[in-house]
Amino acid sequence: MLDAPSNRPALPPEIARRRTFAIISHPDAGKTTLTEKFLLFGGAIQMAGQVRAKGEARRTRSDFMAMEKDRGISVSASAMSFDFRDFRFNLVDTPGHSDFSEDTYRTLTAVDAAIMVIDGAKGVESQTRKLFEVCRLRDLPILTFCNKMDRESRDVFEIVDEIQENLAIDVTPASWPIGMGRDFVGAYDMLNDRLELMDRADRNRVAESISISGLDDPKLAEHVPDHLLDQLREEVEMARELLPPLDKQAVLEGHMTPIWFGSAINSFGVKELMDGIGAYAPEPQPARAEPRQIAPEEGKVAGFVFKVQANMDPKHRDRVAFVRLASGHFERGMKLTHVRSKKAMTVSAPVLFLAADRELAEEAWAGDIIGIPNHGQLRIGDTLTEGEALKVTGIPSFAPELLQNVRAGDPMKAKHLEKALYQFAEEGAAKIFKPSIGSGYIVGVVGALQFEVLGARIESEYGLPVRFEPSQFTSARWVHGPKDKVEAFANRNKQHIAHDNDGDIVYLTRMQWDIDRIERDHPEVTLSATKEMM
Ligand code: GDP
Repeated sequence: MLDAPSNRPALPPEIARRRTFAIISHPDAGKTTLTEKFLLFGGAIQMAGQVRAKGEARRTRSDFMAMEKDRGISVSASAMSFDFRDFRFNLVDTPGHSDFSEDTYRTLTAVDAAIMVIDGAKGVESQTRKLFEVCRLRDLPILTFCNKMDRESRDVFEIVDEIQENLAIDVTPASWPIGMGRDFVGAYDMLNDRLELMDRADRNRVAESISISGLDDPKLAEHVPDHLLDQLREEVEMARELLPPLDKQAVLEGHMTPIWFGSAINSFGVKELMDGIGAYAPEPQPARAEPRQIAPEEGKVAGFVFKVQANMDPKHRDRVAFVRLASGHFERGMKLTHVRSKKAMTVSAPVLFLAADRELAEEAWAGDIIGIPNHGQLRIGDTLTEGEALKVTGIPSFAPELLQNVRAGDPMKAKHLEKALYQFAEEGAAKIFKPSIGSGYIVGVVGALQFEVLGARIESEYGLPVRFEPSQFTSARWVHGPKDKVEAFANRNKQHIAHDNDGDIVYLTRMQWDIDRIERDHPEVTLSATKEMM
């Protein structure tokens, strides 16, 4: 396990001011709107509306494809850096579509905290829950933003209860809403005894904050209508009795989530949430690695690839590897060791994602995300260091849930198809299996939409029409065990065996029964639905 933060030395100020996080939510809860307001208050964009294109694009399949083609948008949105007060925020985008759970999982390996956005009328929805579970696997601290309080929402205690019961995490109110729907006037800041009032007239204006000394301050009555004031006093008193007070250590350990109530579209509660991220989300954390973990304060640079995006510029078949810096102070032109190949690479044109534009990164610190253009050397899970043979661990690959045979529309172009498939496999967009009997390839994905996206991209980026056809197999399992046993097993079960895009042996299954049978008859090997990325 990782050392407790309190046992670690103080970080250099440049690293200590960094907060690297992702937003998790169910579609429509307000992630895009909140991101936009973050950027607005972070001074990264001048006007609300600039991130919108992306949020809307996700909604329909054809728009989604258009977004995929417009690499610029999706790439700059993959990681965004901006300053807020003394902090440098790195917001890493989680793919919105539920089809991309694997990609999402890997994104969450690159952050130190997550912001959970829920819709005040809907509470905890299915995708929020799934993403939350992933965060929990990694003990990520979670801050909660309950959005859309300007609309009819649920009772606040009910929302808090639902989170506590559904997600088994303690909830502590950082703010308490005053009224709701048409009556919503603002929130009482429980941490600083302040009154925050919403400005309905100007959606992009930061709420007015009024310092008061507790709930008995006569100033309250000047700003809050009588009928809401009594209710507020009563509710806050109850909340203080029934709900646990904020415990920073419990938040850092992922046992407690502070919740802010607001309205992203009205810019309300957003600044308080950003202050909360500064105060309660952790500094850059150590990365798990073999043979030792990597601490951010180490003098030498280390980082790992958690995402690869190809064909950002269709004219050059370049790729950008997204690297989370795990330690040190990176400077442009540095020579780093690519641990897997043991080769040196000079990082001469790293990219920093400053909101809408990508820019050459002159320097970056532990906690930052940089993009490294390359020609395919960098793969998901790769570690870069200043020479030491360290390997970051815990970046998994999941067994696909859908398999199809893929064929080139033009049989003469089978070789091109192979190249395209392997490239998408490196991006993590699909898994490719080469069966040991017969020709052709099987493509495995987690969500059905990915077949269509893949088909469209192969056609547009390689000029190669492809056909997907049903496969007799439904799933794949990696075969683990002593090398000789795995090979003997593979020889005896050839009709089920394939090699994945990394050359590892998989067993293709038709039904759960296949897996049960192997587990019973072949105790010398294990079948696994996940493997660590190399
Ligand atoms: P995403 O799917 O989570 O990225 O959600 P969006 O940010 O695209 O928001 C979904 C819809 O909810 C959009 O129509 C937004 O305008 C709307 N919305 C976002 N925040 C608020 C809010 O605070 N109040 C209200 N009433 N609507 C909001």
